[in-house]
Amino acid sequence: MSDTEQVLVLVKPDGVRRGLVGQVIARAEARGFAIQRLELRQATPQLLAQHYAEHAAKPFYPSLVEYMTSGPVVALVLEGAQVIVSFRAMAGATDPVKAAPGTIRGDFGRDWGTGEIQNIVHASDSPQSAAREIAIWFPAG
Ligand code: UDP
Ligand code: MG
Repeated sequence: MSDTEQVLVLVKPDGVRRGLVGQVIARAEARGFAIQRLELRQATPQLLAQHYAEHAAKPFYPSLVEYMTSGPVVALVLEGAQVIVSFRAMAGATDPVKAAPGTIRGDFGRDWGTGEIQNIVHASDSPQSAAREIAIWFPAG
């Protein structure tokens, strides 16, 4: 279908550590999105420099890299019409303190008092960033 799109989702190290991989996948499946790729990976600072290039100069970047390398992540490619906007809505606001109940971040996240924002999932925010991020995480296509 021509309006099918893909999104890169990461279950971040806090999500993996807390045993929330299944709940994230269950929500994606319950919404009717198809899993195209699924892999447990250890992110490196080099890979994150590409993935989070837009944030490289921000003050929170060093703590973000420390957080994102603190354990394995689960990288997923989900597919379906409007999956980018749909999954961003399911993830909720970046800060779990502000994320609405019913969203992944609003149901499973909180402020842990650690400085960086631990929020369980990443999701691409536009078709352009989805294409860029999928190529970074799954370069073989
Ligand atoms: N982040 C952080 N402190 C901030 C802003 C962001 O630790 O002040 C982290 C947080 O984990 C967030 C990620 O950096 O998910 C990327 O930030 P972005 O603004 O792109 O949020 P997202 O797209 O993940 O909602
Ligand atoms: Mg972002």
